[in-house]
Amino acid sequence: MLPISFEIYPPKNDDQRAQLDRTLEKLKAYQPQFISCTYGAGGSTREHTAETVQLLGSKHGLEGVPHLTCIGSTRQEIIQLLTHYQQQGVRRIIALRGDMPSGMLDPGELRHASDLVTLIRESFGQHFHIEVAAYPETHPQARDALADIENFRRKVDAGADSAITQYFYNADAYFRFVDDVRARGVEVPVVPGIMPISNFSQLQRFSESCGAEIPRWVVQRMRAFGDDSGAIREFAADLVAALCQRLIHGGVPGLHFYTLNLARPVGNILKRLQ
Ligand code: FAD
Repeated sequence: MLPISFEIYPPKNDDQRAQLDRTLEKLKAYQPQFISCTYGAGGSTREHTAETVQLLGSKHGLEGVPHLTCIGSTRQEIIQLLTHYQQQGVRRIIALRGDMPSGMLDPGELRHASDLVTLIRESFGQHFHIEVAAYPETHPQARDALADIENFRRKVDAGADSAITQYFYNADAYFRFVDDVRARGVEVPVVPGIMPISNFSQLQRFSESCGAEIPRWVVQRMRAFGDDSGAIREFAADLVAALCQRLIHGGVPGLHFYTLNLARPVGNILKRLQ
Protein backbone atom coordinates (compact mmCIF):
# COMPACT_ATOMS: atom_id res chain seq x y z
CA MET A 1 0.00 0.00 0.00
CA LEU A 2 1.28 3.48 -0.88
CA PRO A 3 2.25 5.33 2.34
CA ILE A 4 0.11 8.35 3.08
CA SER A 5 0.58 11.01 5.74
CA PHE A 6 -1.38 14.03 6.89
CA GLU A 7 -0.52 17.54 8.01
CA ILE A 8 -2.46 19.28 10.77
CA TYR A 9 -2.00 22.56 12.62
CA PRO A 10 -1.93 22.80 16.43
CA PRO A 11 -5.31 23.70 17.95
CA LYS A 12 -5.31 26.73 20.23
CA ASN A 13 -8.58 26.39 22.17
CA ASP A 14 -10.99 23.71 23.37
CA ASP A 15 -13.31 23.94 20.36
CA GLN A 16 -10.40 23.47 17.97
CA ARG A 17 -9.06 20.61 20.09
CA ALA A 18 -12.42 18.81 19.99
CA GLN A 19 -12.64 19.31 16.23
CA LEU A 20 -9.14 17.96 15.72
CA ASP A 21 -9.96 14.90 17.84
CA ARG A 22 -12.95 14.16 15.60
CA THR A 23 -10.83 14.68 12.48
CA LEU A 24 -8.09 12.36 13.75
CA GLU A 25 -10.60 9.64 14.59
CA LYS A 26 -11.70 9.69 10.93
CA LEU A 27 -8.21 9.99 9.46
CA LYS A 28 -6.98 7.02 11.49
CA ALA A 29 -9.02 4.73 9.24
CA TYR A 30 -6.53 5.45 6.44
CA GLN A 31 -3.63 4.11 8.54
CA PRO A 32 -1.34 7.09 7.98
CA GLN A 33 2.40 6.58 8.25
CA PHE A 34 2.55 9.76 10.37
CA ILE A 35 0.74 13.02 11.14
CA SER A 36 2.84 16.16 10.90
CA CYS A 37 2.04 19.26 12.93
CA THR A 38 2.92 22.76 11.72
CA TYR A 39 4.95 25.29 13.68
CA GLY A 40 4.06 28.99 13.77
CA ALA A 41 6.45 31.48 12.19
CA GLY A 42 9.15 32.61 14.62
CA GLY A 43 8.23 29.90 17.12
CA SER A 44 4.78 31.37 17.84
CA THR A 45 3.16 27.95 18.36
CA ARG A 46 6.16 26.24 20.02
CA GLU A 47 4.25 24.85 23.02
CA HIS A 48 1.09 24.08 21.02
CA THR A 49 3.06 22.11 18.43
CA ALA A 50 5.00 20.13 21.04
CA GLU A 51 1.83 19.39 23.02
CA THR A 52 -0.10 18.31 19.91
CA VAL A 53 2.71 16.00 18.79
CA GLN A 54 2.72 14.41 22.23
CA LEU A 55 -1.07 13.92 22.17
CA LEU A 56 -0.97 12.37 18.71
CA GLY A 57 0.95 9.49 20.25
CA SER A 58 -0.50 9.24 23.74
CA LYS A 59 -4.17 9.84 22.89
CA HIS A 60 -4.49 8.63 19.30
CA GLY A 61 -1.71 6.09 18.90
CA LEU A 62 -0.38 7.93 15.83
CA GLU A 63 3.20 8.95 15.04
CA GLY A 64 3.39 12.72 15.51
CA VAL A 65 5.98 14.60 13.49
CA PRO A 66 6.76 18.21 14.45
CA HIS A 67 7.55 20.88 11.88
CA LEU A 68 10.35 23.16 13.04
CA THR A 69 11.27 26.53 11.55
CA CYS A 70 14.58 28.25 12.24
CA ILE A 71 14.17 31.86 11.11
CA GLY A 72 14.25 34.25 14.07
CA SER A 73 15.49 31.59 16.55
CA THR A 74 18.85 31.05 18.18
CA ARG A 75 20.79 27.81 17.86
CA GLN A 76 20.31 27.28 21.57
CA GLU A 77 16.52 27.59 21.40
CA ILE A 78 16.41 25.07 18.58
CA ILE A 79 18.66 22.59 20.35
CA GLN A 80 16.52 22.92 23.48
CA LEU A 81 13.33 22.13 21.59
CA LEU A 82 14.94 19.23 19.70
CA THR A 83 16.25 17.80 22.98
CA HIS A 84 12.68 17.92 24.29
CA TYR A 85 11.47 16.09 21.17
CA GLN A 86 14.23 13.51 21.47
CA GLN A 87 13.23 12.82 25.09
CA GLN A 88 9.60 12.57 24.00
CA GLY A 89 10.57 9.81 21.55
CA VAL A 90 10.13 11.83 18.35
CA ARG A 91 12.13 10.27 15.49
CA ARG A 92 11.12 12.42 12.51
CA ILE A 93 11.26 16.20 12.02
CA ILE A 94 10.21 18.49 9.19
CA ALA A 95 13.01 21.07 9.03
CA LEU A 96 12.12 24.43 7.52
CA ARG A 97 13.35 27.97 7.32
CA GLY A 98 9.90 29.52 7.81
CA ASP A 99 9.04 33.14 6.98
CA MET A 100 9.89 36.20 9.05
CA PRO A 101 6.76 37.30 10.90
CA SER A 102 5.91 40.93 10.10
CA GLY A 103 7.58 43.22 12.60
CA MET A 104 10.40 40.78 13.34
CA LEU A 105 13.71 42.32 12.29
CA ASP A 106 16.38 39.85 13.35
CA PRO A 107 16.47 36.70 11.20
CA GLY A 108 18.47 34.92 13.91
CA GLU A 109 21.45 32.63 13.55
CA LEU A 110 20.11 30.21 10.96
CA ARG A 111 19.19 31.84 7.68
CA HIS A 112 18.30 28.84 5.54
CA ALA A 113 16.71 25.43 6.08
CA SER A 114 20.06 23.88 5.08
CA ASP A 115 21.62 25.56 8.17
CA LEU A 116 18.94 23.94 10.32
CA VAL A 117 19.56 20.50 8.79
CA THR A 118 23.30 20.92 9.45
CA LEU A 119 22.62 21.89 13.07
CA ILE A 120 20.34 18.88 13.62
CA ARG A 121 22.89 16.46 12.19
CA GLU A 122 25.77 18.06 14.15
CA SER A 123 23.88 17.98 17.44
CA PHE A 124 21.76 14.81 17.20
CA GLY A 125 23.61 12.59 14.72
CA GLN A 126 21.22 10.19 12.98
CA HIS A 127 18.54 10.27 15.70
CA PHE A 128 16.02 12.16 13.57
CA HIS A 129 14.74 11.33 10.11
CA ILE A 130 14.86 14.79 8.54
CA GLU A 131 12.27 15.89 5.99
CA VAL A 132 12.71 19.16 4.08
CA ALA A 133 10.46 21.20 1.79
CA ALA A 134 10.65 21.05 -2.01
CA TYR A 135 9.06 23.41 -4.53
CA PRO A 136 8.09 21.90 -7.92
CA GLU A 137 6.82 25.34 -9.03
CA THR A 138 9.81 27.19 -7.45
CA HIS A 139 9.89 28.95 -4.08
CA PRO A 140 8.67 32.57 -4.54
CA GLN A 141 11.88 34.10 -3.13
CA ALA A 142 14.29 31.98 -5.18
CA ARG A 143 16.60 33.82 -7.60
CA ASP A 144 15.33 31.45 -10.28
CA ALA A 145 14.12 27.87 -10.70
CA LEU A 146 17.60 26.39 -11.10
CA ALA A 147 18.93 28.23 -8.04
CA ASP A 148 16.01 26.78 -6.09
CA ILE A 149 16.86 23.26 -7.28
CA GLU A 150 20.47 23.87 -6.20
CA ASN A 151 19.16 24.92 -2.78
CA PHE A 152 17.17 21.72 -2.56
CA ARG A 153 20.37 19.76 -3.28
CA ARG A 154 22.14 21.76 -0.54
CA LYS A 155 19.54 20.62 2.02
CA VAL A 156 20.00 16.99 1.00
CA ASP A 157 23.80 17.36 1.06
CA ALA A 158 23.45 18.76 4.60
CA GLY A 159 21.73 15.52 5.66
CA ALA A 160 18.01 15.56 4.76
CA ASP A 161 16.56 12.07 4.28
CA SER A 162 13.47 12.92 2.27
CA ALA A 163 11.24 15.78 1.15
CA ILE A 164 7.63 16.87 1.02
CA THR A 165 6.61 19.30 -1.70
CA GLN A 166 4.63 22.47 -1.61
CA TYR A 167 1.19 21.68 -3.06
CA PHE A 168 0.63 21.97 -6.81
CA TYR A 169 -2.13 21.15 -9.28
CA ASN A 170 0.17 20.54 -12.23
CA ALA A 171 1.67 17.04 -12.13
CA ASP A 172 4.20 17.89 -14.88
CA ALA A 173 5.87 20.40 -12.56
CA TYR A 174 6.40 17.66 -9.99
CA PHE A 175 7.75 15.08 -12.45
CA ARG A 176 10.09 17.63 -14.02
CA PHE A 177 11.36 18.71 -10.60
CA VAL A 178 12.11 15.10 -9.65
CA ASP A 179 13.88 14.47 -12.99
CA ASP A 180 15.96 17.62 -12.46
CA VAL A 181 17.06 16.69 -8.95
CA ARG A 182 17.81 13.09 -9.99
CA ALA A 183 19.97 14.46 -12.82
CA ARG A 184 21.98 16.23 -10.10
CA GLY A 185 22.51 13.00 -8.20
CA VAL A 186 19.84 13.60 -5.52
CA GLU A 187 18.18 10.28 -4.74
CA VAL A 188 16.00 10.99 -1.67
CA PRO A 189 12.24 10.34 -1.88
CA VAL A 190 10.23 13.44 -2.84
CA VAL A 191 6.67 13.01 -1.60
CA PRO A 192 4.07 15.25 -3.23
CA GLY A 193 2.11 17.53 -0.88
CA ILE A 194 -1.58 17.43 -1.82
CA MET A 195 -3.95 20.28 -0.97
CA PRO A 196 -7.64 19.33 -1.10
CA ILE A 197 -9.84 22.23 -2.15
CA SER A 198 -12.41 23.27 0.44
CA ASN A 199 -12.42 27.07 0.67
CA PHE A 200 -11.51 28.19 -2.84
CA SER A 201 -11.14 31.95 -2.30
CA GLN A 202 -8.87 31.31 0.69
CA LEU A 203 -6.84 28.86 -1.40
CA GLN A 204 -6.45 31.44 -4.19
CA ARG A 205 -5.11 34.06 -1.76
CA PHE A 206 -2.73 31.61 -0.12
CA SER A 207 -1.51 30.27 -3.47
CA GLU A 208 -0.44 33.75 -4.55
CA SER A 209 1.83 34.13 -1.53
CA CYS A 210 3.35 30.64 -1.57
CA GLY A 211 3.88 30.45 -5.31
CA ALA A 212 1.50 27.60 -6.18
CA GLU A 213 -0.36 27.93 -9.46
CA ILE A 214 -4.06 27.22 -9.77
CA PRO A 215 -4.72 26.55 -13.47
CA ARG A 216 -6.92 29.14 -15.19
CA TRP A 217 -9.47 26.54 -16.28
CA VAL A 218 -9.94 25.48 -12.65
CA VAL A 219 -10.49 29.10 -11.55
CA GLN A 220 -13.03 29.57 -14.35
CA ARG A 221 -14.94 26.42 -13.38
CA MET A 222 -15.01 27.41 -9.73
CA ARG A 223 -16.35 30.86 -10.64
CA ALA A 224 -19.07 29.32 -12.77
CA PHE A 225 -20.32 27.19 -9.86
CA GLY A 226 -21.13 30.35 -7.88
CA ASP A 227 -22.67 29.37 -4.54
CA ASP A 228 -23.37 25.76 -5.52
CA SER A 229 -21.29 24.20 -2.75
CA GLY A 230 -22.27 20.64 -3.73
CA ALA A 231 -20.98 21.12 -7.29
CA ILE A 232 -17.79 22.76 -6.00
CA ARG A 233 -17.16 19.90 -3.58
CA GLU A 234 -17.62 17.21 -6.25
CA PHE A 235 -15.50 19.03 -8.83
CA ALA A 236 -12.72 19.73 -6.32
CA ALA A 237 -12.58 16.11 -5.15
CA ASP A 238 -12.58 14.79 -8.76
CA LEU A 239 -9.83 17.21 -9.72
CA VAL A 240 -7.50 16.41 -6.83
CA ALA A 241 -8.20 12.66 -7.01
CA ALA A 242 -7.26 12.73 -10.72
CA LEU A 243 -4.02 14.51 -9.80
CA CYS A 244 -3.28 11.83 -7.19
CA GLN A 245 -4.02 9.07 -9.73
CA ARG A 246 -1.54 10.57 -12.15
CA LEU A 247 1.07 10.87 -9.45
CA ILE A 248 0.52 7.29 -8.30
CA HIS A 249 0.84 6.00 -11.87
CA GLY A 250 4.02 8.04 -12.19
CA GLY A 251 5.52 6.13 -9.24
CA VAL A 252 5.46 8.62 -6.34
CA PRO A 253 6.86 7.27 -3.04
CA GLY A 254 3.81 8.41 -1.03
CA LEU A 255 1.21 11.18 -0.70
CA HIS A 256 1.15 13.84 2.04
CA PHE A 257 -2.21 15.58 2.49
CA TYR A 258 -2.61 19.10 3.89
CA THR A 259 -5.78 18.63 5.93
CA LEU A 260 -6.28 22.07 7.55
CA ASN A 261 -7.68 19.92 10.38
CA LEU A 262 -10.65 18.80 8.27
CA ALA A 263 -11.35 15.15 7.49
CA ARG A 264 -14.05 15.48 4.84
CA PRO A 265 -12.14 17.08 1.91
CA VAL A 266 -9.33 14.49 2.24
CA GLY A 267 -11.86 11.68 2.74
CA ASN A 268 -13.69 12.69 -0.47
CA ILE A 269 -10.41 12.31 -2.39
CA LEU A 270 -9.30 9.06 -0.76
CA LYS A 271 -12.73 7.51 -1.37
CA ARG A 272 -12.22 8.10 -5.08
CA LEU A 273 -8.76 6.53 -4.99
CA GLN A 274 -9.72 3.32 -3.25
P1 FAD B 1 14.80 27.29 2.41
O1 FAD B 1 15.06 25.91 1.90
O2 FAD B 1 15.82 27.92 3.27
O3 FAD B 1 14.57 28.20 1.11
C1 FAD B 1 13.98 29.50 1.22
C2 FAD B 1 14.43 30.37 0.04
O4 FAD B 1 15.82 30.71 0.17
C3 FAD B 1 14.29 29.69 -1.32
O5 FAD B 1 13.92 30.66 -2.24
C4 FAD B 1 15.70 29.17 -1.60
O6 FAD B 1 15.94 29.02 -2.98
C5 FAD B 1 16.55 30.27 -0.96
N1 FAD B 1 17.84 29.80 -0.44
C6 FAD B 1 18.05 28.78 0.40
N2 FAD B 1 19.35 28.65 0.71
C7 FAD B 1 19.99 29.63 0.05
C8 FAD B 1 21.34 30.05 -0.02
N3 FAD B 1 22.31 29.43 0.65
N4 FAD B 1 21.62 31.12 -0.79
C9 FAD B 1 20.65 31.76 -1.47
N5 FAD B 1 19.34 31.41 -1.43
C10 FAD B 1 19.02 30.37 -0.67
N6 FAD B 1 6.11 27.41 7.34
C11 FAD B 1 5.91 27.61 8.68
O7 FAD B 1 6.06 28.74 9.16
N7 FAD B 1 5.56 26.57 9.50
C12 FAD B 1 5.41 25.30 9.05
O8 FAD B 1 5.10 24.40 9.81
C13 FAD B 1 5.61 25.05 7.64
N8 FAD B 1 5.50 23.81 7.12
C14 FAD B 1 5.77 23.59 5.79
C15 FAD B 1 5.72 22.28 5.28
C16 FAD B 1 5.99 22.03 3.94
C17 FAD B 1 5.97 20.62 3.42
C18 FAD B 1 6.29 23.12 3.06
C19 FAD B 1 6.55 22.87 1.59
C20 FAD B 1 6.34 24.41 3.55
C21 FAD B 1 6.10 24.67 4.91
N9 FAD B 1 6.18 25.97 5.46
C22 FAD B 1 5.97 26.17 6.81
C23 FAD B 1 6.47 27.11 4.60
C24 FAD B 1 7.99 27.43 4.55
O9 FAD B 1 8.43 27.80 5.83
C25 FAD B 1 8.18 28.58 3.56
O10 FAD B 1 7.92 28.13 2.26
C26 FAD B 1 9.52 29.31 3.64
O11 FAD B 1 9.41 30.49 2.86
C27 FAD B 1 10.71 28.54 3.09
O12 FAD B 1 11.08 27.51 3.91
P2 FAD B 1 12.16 26.43 3.37
O13 FAD B 1 12.39 25.50 4.48
O14 FAD B 1 11.74 25.88 2.08
O15 FAD B 1 13.41 27.41 3.17
